[in-house]
Amino acid sequence: MANYEDIFKKVVSHAKEYGYVFQSSEIYDGLAAAYDYGPNGVELKNNIKNYWWKSMVNMHENIVGLDSSIFMHPTTWKASGHIDAFNDPLIDNKDSKKRYRADVLIEDHIAKIEAKIEKDCVKAAKRFGDDFNKDEFVTTNGRILDRQKQIDAINEKMNTSLSSGDLEGVKALIEELDIKCPVSGTNNWTDVRQFNLMFKTQMGATADGSSDLYLRPETAQGIFVNFLNVQKTARMKIPFGIAQIGKAFRNEIVARQFIFRMREFEQMEMQFFVRPGEEMKWYEYWKESRMKWHNSLGMGKEDYRFHDHENLAHYANAATDIEFKFPFGFKELEGIHSRTDFDLKAHQEHSGKKLQYFDPELGESYVPYVVETSIGLDRMFLTVLSHSFREEKLENGETRVILKIPALLSPIKAAILPLTKKDGMPEKAREIMKMLQLDFSCQYEEKDSIGKRYRRQDAIGTPYCITVDHQTLEDNTVTLRDRDTMKQERVSVEKLHSIIAEKVNISKYLA
Ligand code: ATP
Repeated sequence: MANYEDIFKKVVSHAKEYGYVFQSSEIYDGLAAAYDYGPNGVELKNNIKNYWWKSMVNMHENIVGLDSSIFMHPTTWKASGHIDAFNDPLIDNKDSKKRYRADVLIEDHIAKIEAKIEKDCVKAAKRFGDDFNKDEFVTTNGRILDRQKQIDAINEKMNTSLSSGDLEGVKALIEELDIKCPVSGTNNWTDVRQFNLMFKTQMGATADGSSDLYLRPETAQGIFVNFLNVQKTARMKIPFGIAQIGKAFRNEIVARQFIFRMREFEQMEMQFFVRPGEEMKWYEYWKESRMKWHNSLGMGKEDYRFHDHENLAHYANAATDIEFKFPFGFKELEGIHSRTDFDLKAHQEHSGKKLQYFDPELGESYVPYVVETSIGLDRMFLTVLSHSFREEKLENGETRVILKIPALLSPIKAAILPLTKKDGMPEKAREIMKMLQLDFSCQYEEKDSIGKRYRRQDAIGTPYCITVDHQTLEDNTVTLRDRDTMKQERVSVEKLHSIIAEKVNISKYLA
């Protein structure tokens, strides 16, 4: 069985080696939880953004875009509840001095029980062979039912304590479960404390004339405060949405797991404004629609699942996560939240300005309800990267490392490779490059043997390699090599554009 930690380590070092992701400020030994995207990384990131934007904004008549500033009036965060409630419960182990999120410690404990259930299932599947029915097994087997009861009881206790702000209760649960620090192996814990995740800074030149500002912890508030500006200028009728891609900042207590949890990251958010009372219908609509978007990339339906929230945030009346099976387990990739009229009402109260919509069909004004879809761009990037990374054993016994990135998202669509550096091949290759580069990102490479160049492009995830050889100069045909099948075929230069266009045709994905 694959060792997931090993695979994850390989993905991280591959990302560095092939110019996808670098540690921030690496020459100064790095800055924790901040990362830089290299030449291939920035292309993949842009392609993901584009895919999201096209599906949200271009394909919906009633969704428009926005790019609001990172700095906002400080009262924004009072109104949104972030100053008072955007906290995580933290706990320290007195022996190792390591800091943890208390809720994550408990969730990790639950994950261990889940893993035991999974193990029981694997064992039973072996024992029963073809007759094994997993659904029946997990609903009837006594040991599994006991384990599930344990999980439910822990979840209930945790949620009750967290939602009532009972931090002593959270600590008591950690002690009751005898959760130990993975580093020191002891259960010598401090009390649980709340920690606000917003970064603070100052605006203005002089100390007394400056005012405290926060770096936005989500892009959503920029959308809410612009609700009427957008509605009026774009002449939108409810239901309608506003989409935005932008940076967000959170002073995360524990920021491990590479780009999964960073202190500076990017979000792709869409706030959908609806009539009060219709929010559940739209919540269900966006749940389904967003899962469809993920599945459209063909990265394996079984690796995605919904996780409905029991412990709701202060602004929500329903919430679910779309989770992806990362190398370290199923974790949140995207959140879909029914945010009620909480935000618009709060901004209305704090600003003294009306944030209402006159509904011509109903003949009345109201504060709309909001359904939000919020996905982390960096987590989507990690999803694509960890899903695509493969080590394939070849017939000749060698291993090839390959990124099977959906072709539409690949940083480079075609590599153009002259077989040798002479006899006019480089010139011909550059001619082909010129023909393709306006529509597709291409790379010209003449160094190393052709086999080595193929391997390098596999490792980058380039769907096509185009090799120019002696025959090209005679009959204007090239060798076209497919990344996934490694098949090579002879095609005429005139056909290259349409072959690549067909492969990366967005309508094939977003049909
Ligand atoms: P988590 O429970 O993992 O802390 P969250 O529930 O606080 O996440 P939301 O506030 O719902 O996250 O944010 C929406 C999305 O933004 C998340 O689904 C995730 O993809 C992304 N996101 C949130 N925090 C981070 C982070 N620190 N680094 C990278 N992406 C993040």
